[in-house]
Amino acid sequence: MYYFDNAATTRSYDEVAEIMNKYLLEEYYNPSALYKKGLDIEKDINAARQTIADELKVEAGEIYFTPGATWSNNIVIQSILSANKGANIVTSQLEHSSVYEPIRSYAGHRKIIYLANDCHGKIDIGELEKASREDTALVSIMHVNNELGTIEDIELIGSILKEKDIPFHVDGVQGFCKYDIDLKKSNVDFYSLSSHKIHGPKGIGALYVSKDASIKPLNLGGGQERGLVPGTENVPGIMGLAKAVDISSQDKEKSFKKVKEMYDYLRHGLASIDDCIINSPLDGSVYIINAAFKDIKSEVLIHMMSDHGFCISAGSACGKNKKSRIGQAIKLGEDYSQGPIRISLSHLNTMEECEKLLDSLKANIGLLRQIMRR
Ligand code: PMP
Repeated sequence: MYYFDNAATTRSYDEVAEIMNKYLLEEYYNPSALYKKGLDIEKDINAARQTIADELKVEAGEIYFTPGATWSNNIVIQSILSANKGANIVTSQLEHSSVYEPIRSYAGHRKIIYLANDCHGKIDIGELEKASREDTALVSIMHVNNELGTIEDIELIGSILKEKDIPFHVDGVQGFCKYDIDLKKSNVDFYSLSSHKIHGPKGIGALYVSKDASIKPLNLGGGQERGLVPGTENVPGIMGLAKAVDISSQDKEKSFKKVKEMYDYLRHGLASIDDCIINSPLDGSVYIINAAFKDIKSEVLIHMMSDHGFCISAGSACGKNKKSRIGQAIKLGEDYSQGPIRISLSHLNTMEECEKLLDSLKANIGLLRQIMRR
């Protein structure tokens, strides 16, 4: 099996599985317990918090563990929008569903402004300047787009919003531990991250809340995570996440170099296929390539590729069975709109696998076109 769906999820590092095993089988104590074993676990969780904080160059007290980025995004959006009386909400059509849907649920109460974007999904900064006002409740823009790989200029957006003192949320999932981001310099108030995109376990993530920002919990109960995310901590998950951050952050440059070579090879190879549009921008993330082929349905191609042992996707796994909102947002032409595919890489892929992927894509696209154009 050749796995090219790393934006959907990744294989955990062996070291992650090892440390999780330890916290499942040996160090299984509740961190709220008053005996020494419990206190030791609490210390371990706080060391893990420091690891995340160091990667983001923020304070450990600004990091909260959550059950994943969907939760992190919802906590911020629902908390801010249910409390703040601001006039409008500014976001884009390209956000992940865990941002897009909670914002959309406020449509009856607030004006939602979706910023325009170009054909690669980059948002229009001029529109952002116009749309954001002193009484804007929240601006939510993702760092790296999960379907296209488009990288937004978070520092520039943050500098515009700072002047007007507008709360700024960034979904950082696809950029975290791959691309450096300076949350303080970028005036980011809230930042969501997920563990299973960086070779950590599923069901765990984190939320950065700037100490200057205020936020209230959506759920009430025990006082865990300083009341913001109540419920007994997922200790194995937290320790697994911290281990994944440790390794990913240390190997960041090495991984980038390896992935970039594979990305350049695939991008060049895809562009040589007749009637192919590469939707990902040239200056996007090297971990994600999105392309569409004239007259090809992605669903059919993905099944054919799967029969040949390749895992690729049509876009976000969270948007399964729904027509891609992203394809519409970048105004993919009618002939191409049925067919965007996403290839997403990790440093665990090899050049040899990429060669096989490209050969198989070319063969299957050729076959499909022969059948369709008969
Ligand atoms: N945001 C983005 C950009 C994502 O790619 C994902 C995962 N598909 C999420 C949020 C949700 O993350 P999680 O699976 O941790 O809930």
